[in-house]
Amino acid sequence: MTALPADQVSKRVLLAAPRGYCAGVDRAVVTVEKALDLYGPPIYVRKQIVHNKHVVRTLEKRGAIFVEETDEVPEGATVIFSAHGVSPAVHLEAEARQLKTIDATCPLVTKVHREAVRFAKEDYDILLIGHEGHEEVEGTAGEAPDHIVLVQNPDEVDDVEVRDPDKVVWLSQTTLSVDETMETVRRLRERFPALQDPPSDDICYATQNRQVAVKQMAADCDLMIVVGSKNSSNSVRLVEVALDHGSQAGHLVDYADEIDEAWLEGVSTVGVTSGASVPEILVRDVLQFLADRGYEDVKPITAAEESLLFALPHEIRRDLKARDGVEAAKIRHDAGSLH
Ligand code: SF4
Repeated sequence: MTALPADQVSKRVLLAAPRGYCAGVDRAVVTVEKALDLYGPPIYVRKQIVHNKHVVRTLEKRGAIFVEETDEVPEGATVIFSAHGVSPAVHLEAEARQLKTIDATCPLVTKVHREAVRFAKEDYDILLIGHEGHEEVEGTAGEAPDHIVLVQNPDEVDDVEVRDPDKVVWLSQTTLSVDETMETVRRLRERFPALQDPPSDDICYATQNRQVAVKQMAADCDLMIVVGSKNSSNSVRLVEVALDHGSQAGHLVDYADEIDEAWLEGVSTVGVTSGASVPEILVRDVLQFLADRGYEDVKPITAAEESLLFALPHEIRRDLKARDGVEAAKIRHDAGSLH
């Protein structure tokens, strides 16, 4: 079939909802903003507060200093732990250096940490499905290093070794592909029929909802553009999900100007979504880029409504309350540039 000339192709955008910021990312970013506001720069942040280039650059301009490890933070300074969580060893290192710590770990990651601690206490082998080297996996594994066996994908299942096949449970990273994880679990259960499920879903609501929206529209898309950074697990998964569910092509971009005009050749329907760490302003830039090239018709595809919000870390709430009083401390959201 010959592709229609570009000026004869009917052009539209399917825009996924929900997309972008989740409750854990929102909380982590506001935590750094409030810390800068309360204590003044510099504020140290261990690792990227969330995996998004734009967010990190913007916070750096305001006085945040991102470090890889706590030993890069001057003794006595304030350090924020990122949304992905840290292991108990990192808390101890910070204590030894007398750092003032603010923990912006997403409560849904903390939930997985607690599950790991609980099952380790009961002497289970914990099959942690996740990606080696990801900060969240390092943090969760650090809660129960002697009990965790990492399983990265279904193909690794055959090599898993446990002490007692009747005492195994699986847990997972919060930002994985739901389908691939379920396939890993299916194969694990074939090998270990007594395998226990986590008490509740470890793949978080935001990851799941963004994948469901992409699945709903992928088959209608000639191209899926996912706004997100390359080190953002949930963003990378969205491209994979789009391709697995019928999108003809899929690309991850941090900024609109990374879109290659050649991707649009002969393309009628472009899907647009964004990872859980992506500010909406970056999606608006992509929509403008597409509108400038004739994709002005934007149709939302809504898979779920989200209204979850997490309270800020208690150190921030305490110090806001001391400064501004009880009522002001309840107000969490600024109309800042990152929202
Ligand atoms: S993606 Fe999920 S687990 Fe990660 S910060 Fe957002 S809500 Fe929390």
